Amino acid sequence: MTEVKKVNLLGLPPKKMIEFFESIGEKKFRATQVLKWIHQKGADDFDQMTDVSKALRHKLKDICEIRAPEVVSQNISNDGTRKWIIRTEGGGNNCVETVLIPDGDRATLCVSSQVGCSLDCSFCSTGKQGFNRNLTPAEVIGQVWVAIKSFGPFDPNGPRRVTNVVMMGMGEPLMNFEPVVDAMTLMMDDNAYGMSKRRVTLSTSGVVPKIYELAERTDVSLAISLHAPTNELRDVLVPINKKYPINELLGACQHYLTSLPDKRHITIEYTMMAGVNDSEEQARGLSKLLKTLECKINLIPFNPFPSSGYDKPSNNQVRRFQKVLADDGYTVTVRTTRGDDIDAACGQLVGDFHDKTRRSQKYIELKEIQD
Ligand code: SAH
Ligand code: SF4
Repeated sequence: MTEVKKVNLLGLPPKKMIEFFESIGEKKFRATQVLKWIHQKGADDFDQMTDVSKALRHKLKDICEIRAPEVVSQNISNDGTRKWIIRTEGGGNNCVETVLIPDGDRATLCVSSQVGCSLDCSFCSTGKQGFNRNLTPAEVIGQVWVAIKSFGPFDPNGPRRVTNVVMMGMGEPLMNFEPVVDAMTLMMDDNAYGMSKRRVTLSTSGVVPKIYELAERTDVSLAISLHAPTNELRDVLVPINKKYPINELLGACQHYLTSLPDKRHITIEYTMMAGVNDSEEQARGLSKLLKTLECKINLIPFNPFPSSGYDKPSNNQVRRFQKVLADDGYTVTVRTTRGDDIDAACGQLVGDFHDKTRRSQKYIELKEIQD
């Protein structure tokens, strides 16, 4: 007899959790109880659920499970940045990375959505890896669960261990649409992580039709990986631009902002590569391009990786670029590199940890969360 695959309750957003409980003849409120146990108390064992009857716990154990993704390693940087390598279902070397960046009373978790990525941006190490597979909803939300769990037992009255989430880890979130929407729904739900929609950000390289679809489904904040002021250059850096050029992308951004119930801005991410897209003329081009979009600009100095073929711009060049935009009235931040000593910076995330011997030597291996 083949064993029936158990439903992993970790990845079910409220609506699907209710449907599941109703499908097994149980009341709706049970779904809320179980959601709270999993996401607010960190339970992964039905026996912890003391307000659920023994009979129901028994029934649940038979047909479902609460299975967090397997943590291969956890590393903590000198600056407090934490990085996890997470093995995805199917095992092997199919790994993704999750990074937590504390900053004062904020802590931002950078979450992965795919093993690898099919979009092949020319400056991205994840893109170089090619596409391997989509993460399940449990694997996406499981990264939040694992990060909070790493601080010990979940404590609803303690400090929030994860205050913000950015879908800026490995993969293109809009190419794994449903699981990412499910996971973000859990991040914002009051019976789960209860984060503000302003603090959950999806970053995309510009899968235009999916931005329209996203507007129908959620109201998270949106970041766009623009990286170039012209189609000519963007076609090279971000090949999906050939399919959805800049004017269509900016149109989708306007639509997204209009669909939101509150006033918000788009974050424009601009990875700067020396001699490629970092000139003052290009800054002026960018300024002109974004004139009518409610946005803030985040400059990301390129993080080198072996054989990338690109260099990081000098600090002076970054400042000059920033000044052109700031003088035109834009809010422009420069992303500082965090977690450098554990290779946790943007674009340094890799899936195949076995190939990274140099990297693993640098890890300060603290403990494995799961045996
Ligand atoms: N696929 C999505 C989200 C993941 S990439 C996207 O492209 O937006 C997250 C951010 O890291 C993107 O803005 C991406 O351009 C940037 N990035 C990728 N490789 C980088 C590198 N080597 N140095 C600096 N930023 C990089
Ligand atoms: Fe994929 Fe984003 Fe990397 Fe481009 S930058 S290859 S979309 S992960």
